[in-house]
Amino acid sequence: MKAEIIAIGSELTTGAKLDTNSQWLSIELASIGIPVHFHQTVADELDVLAEIIRIASERSDLILITGGLGPTLDDLTREAIAQFMNAELELHEPSLEFIENLFASFNRTMPDRNKIQAMFPKGSKPLNNPRGTAPGIWVDWKEGDRNVIIAAMPGVPSEMKMMFRKELLPGLPAGNNVIKIHRVNCFGLGESPAEEMLGELTARGREPEVGITVHHATITLRIASSGKSEKECETAIKETKNNINEILGSYVFGEEDEELQDIVVSLLNQKEMTLSTAEFGTGGLISHLITEVKNYDQCFSGGLVIPKLSSRIPFLEDLPIEKELDPEKELESGSQQRTAEMVARSCKEHFQSDFSIAIIEVSESSESKVEGKPDAYISLVGPDISISKKHYYVGDPAIRKIRAAKTALNLLRLHLLGFLSFENQ
Ligand code: ATP
Repeated sequence: MKAEIIAIGSELTTGAKLDTNSQWLSIELASIGIPVHFHQTVADELDVLAEIIRIASERSDLILITGGLGPTLDDLTREAIAQFMNAELELHEPSLEFIENLFASFNRTMPDRNKIQAMFPKGSKPLNNPRGTAPGIWVDWKEGDRNVIIAAMPGVPSEMKMMFRKELLPGLPAGNNVIKIHRVNCFGLGESPAEEMLGELTARGREPEVGITVHHATITLRIASSGKSEKECETAIKETKNNINEILGSYVFGEEDEELQDIVVSLLNQKEMTLSTAEFGTGGLISHLITEVKNYDQCFSGGLVIPKLSSRIPFLEDLPIEKELDPEKELESGSQQRTAEMVARSCKEHFQSDFSIAIIEVSESSESKVEGKPDAYISLVGPDISISKKHYYVGDPAIRKIRAAKTALNLLRLHLLGFLSFENQ
């Protein structure tokens, strides 16, 4: 099966926005063994769009279109598909009802123009959109004696990804097989060690196949299973997932879209415990990550962004700490490690929280970096824990801050799950 991706939108062809949808879809398709042979990026022009779909239908078996499904006049994807199919647009009542209900849930009346989003080319099927108003469009097309699937999804990346995974992927043929994907997320080890530990699990051609990707120091293992039925795939995925969990143990923190902060907030809320943070050098990144999670306010007592260790923050002023970061001196004295712990203790006191994390992240260019000096100091204090650790990072300096923030969250996760204790530090 050959695939082709069409990204629609004048904001893409003018260069105002980068087409990341095609990149993401190509990686997803490759991971389930469907090669993408062509990308096309097209402006919002009806005749051109219909022509582009025609060209794609003559050379590809799967055509994924993103963008142009909105209610405005320059959203022309549905019209282009209808023109290509030589079909009328017809109203799909359940979709109209869904969109009207969505507006009603925001106490708004659906504008007339949104009705267009419930119109579909005759002979096509709607694809549910769990994240937005615009349903997608699925067409089973016959091009000579070839079967061609054409599927149009919204341009908004988060909506597109959700629709692809939940609505489109299960319907894609893999020969006569069903394809299922499951993601396992890990933190605390690099890509190569992960691959080495997993051994034959990551061998190419294994069923289910396990692929590794890294994003901002989080490792994601994608288990792709192809089988005769969903049940067969799910059974194979479960077995592989169990193997991964057995091998990687506490490195595994979550599944699918789960991030470290989701797990930490959920564990704290379950235990009815609270956290505060004091961050030097990360610009408040830990607070930012935490406050993106639903119900974070139940467990987050507050956070401080510390611009300088000599900043006029009341509890810092009183601490007997090294106020200046002198890399040479630091190497001998190791005082910043103690500073991180003192800051964490005072922060805990200040916010009256159960736990406190203090972080000192020292971003330096590789030229000015003193050899052997840590990149970050992270301290976690709480009812049964009081640790302060040095961290050395290898790899891309651009992701040092996010890596440091995630390391801190991971420390708390491990403690809340019982993998760390005061004694074993
Ligand atoms: P909407 O209902 O929001 O109008 P739509 O399906 O019509 O959805 P567009 O209007 O084309 O989608 O795009 C919506 C947003 O998604 C825009 O911010 C756009 O920049 C972004 N977007 C569209 N296509 C892509 C793409 N290929 N890659 C990355 N972002 C995209």
